[in-house]
Amino acid sequence: MGLKSLVLLLPSLAVPSTCSSCKSSRPFLLAFAVSFSALPGFSFCSERNAYSPLEAMNRYLYLLLCSHIVLTTSTELPVCIVGAGASGLSAAHALEALGRHTVIFDAKDTVGGNAQNYYENDQAFYLGPLLIGNSSHPETMKIVESVDVPVTTYTPESSWIFNWTTGETWTAPETPQTPPPEFLEELQRYTENVSDELTVSTTEWFTEQKFPLLHATIMPSLIAWGYGDVDELPIFYPLSIFTPAALMGTRLRVDFHEVFQRWSRQLSRSEIHPGSKVDCIDRSEETITLYYTSSQNQNTPLQQSCSDLILAFPPTLSSLEAAGLSLSAEEHTVFSAVRTTNYFSAAVRLDTPHLSFFQITTETPYSSPEIAGQPVSVEGQYNNSDISLLYALASHSQSVEGVADVTLQTLSRINGDPTDDDAITTPVTPTDIKAFRHHPYYFPHFEADALRGGLYDLFNDLQGANRTYFTSGLNRVEHVEYVVVAAREVVQRYFST
Ligand SMILES: Cc1cc2nc3c(=O)[nH]c(=O)nc-3n(C[C@H](O)[C@H](O)[C@H](O)COP(=O)(O)OP(=O)(O)OC[C@H]3O[C@@H](n4cnc5c(N)ncnc54)[C@H](O)[C@@H]3O)c2cc1C
Repeated sequence: MGLKSLVLLLPSLAVPSTCSSCKSSRPFLLAFAVSFSALPGFSFCSERNAYSPLEAMNRYLYLLLCSHIVLTTSTELPVCIVGAGASGLSAAHALEALGRHTVIFDAKDTVGGNAQNYYENDQAFYLGPLLIGNSSHPETMKIVESVDVPVTTYTPESSWIFNWTTGETWTAPETPQTPPPEFLEELQRYTENVSDELTVSTTEWFTEQKFPLLHATIMPSLIAWGYGDVDELPIFYPLSIFTPAALMGTRLRVDFHEVFQRWSRQLSRSEIHPGSKVDCIDRSEETITLYYTSSQNQNTPLQQSCSDLILAFPPTLSSLEAAGLSLSAEEHTVFSAVRTTNYFSAAVRLDTPHLSFFQITTETPYSSPEIAGQPVSVEGQYNNSDISLLYALASHSQSVEGVADVTLQTLSRINGDPTDDDAITTPVTPTDIKAFRHHPYYFPHFEADALRGGLYDLFNDLQGANRTYFTSGLNRVEHVEYVVVAAREVVQRYFST
């Protein structure tokens, strides 16, 4: 081994291995497992996923059986996909189109990933994606049409700005039916003179390019959709989402959970394992082995052999660690630079007018609100329902309970009819919260320095190394259309030969 390869190897040894002992196909491990079986607390895969000696033996026997099957049928091994959200399902459909078999795992009991809803009285309250547009979601629209889920329009009957600390509310400025000529003029210039690097902050870019109207128009969506602090957010991401066509197109709504459920049923060469958390991945042998536990039987560890592995979830260090992936040095470099936002969605019963929309006030139309766990937008969904949807953004250090508390306090300040000056607001209690979802790995992205440092080149270089592929919002941007397209790109580029 030359000096160069040794130097390359050193960092990988330094990277903590979360799953080193799952390399269990070697016979000596049987003796190892037996001899350690008397020791209390023996961990077969990792500390976090400790297995009893009996379970360890169980795993070993599965592996023996499986390795035999692998030897005889290795050419027919499926591609394993971890994650049955928009990314994983898109990858599976694209692989099936190439004649490949897949096995898909998701820790959730149902497919759809982020696309999960709260249902009451036959009405859906979307706790994940809901907005779709002909111009902004052309590929997604084809999927929706193929599964025949209706697409609807939505317009709030009244719009309000609220101060989250005082509860003061006032009427939101009216959005003109047709954009004024000044806005159209900005739109014309919008994608000219885009900096090559695309790493400047969103605020800086809009200011430098003199786009006050576009900036003010895009801000409420950036805030409500949880994209973080615009003073830091590289303009690359907003530009990817808010294309001129998307800005001018109609925003429609669709039940994405239903779409993904129906779409998953159209898969014919795939095995889907909902309620199955992958907690150890062994890439040390020619065949990749996944170990997973099913929510129905957590005591019996299961495993699956595969030719290739697609990780279809936001690849943060902690989510990869939870999947029991032992990272290469290159993977560690890239994924330690991945940032996410701490995002929440909830369905809550309120005394506000049914189709009202409340948006948080900010210091200027161009600034982000303080990120303190408070709701940033609250929106009534149906004219015959008192349940509203809200989105909240917190710092990563804030606890889920802390965010729930701030949410209740803020809602209690605005929970009334803003058209009635004398109305008294009523407290919102935990029983009013019908569903509360935490999205801790929302919007995987790189910060400006990492973008400048060429992290996307390094990320792309990882595709295929160790027969592992990555597809999620990180590939482009967190948005159904882009994750669908990115997953297809990965499959077409690396599996179609
Ligand atoms: C509140 C909210 C609102 C949104 N609104 C919109 C919108 O209106 N329009 C739009 O276009 N986009 C919207 N988005 C973005 C969109 O939902 C995402 O871009 C998209 O769903 C991401 O899909 P994904 O498959 O990459 O990831 P996910 O949906 O996060 O799916 C990843 C899956 O991987 C599973 N997983 C992870 N680790 C493991 C493991 N170890 N073992 C087993 N399973 C594992 C998880 O359980 C999860 O189900 C919204 C997102 C949120 C959260």
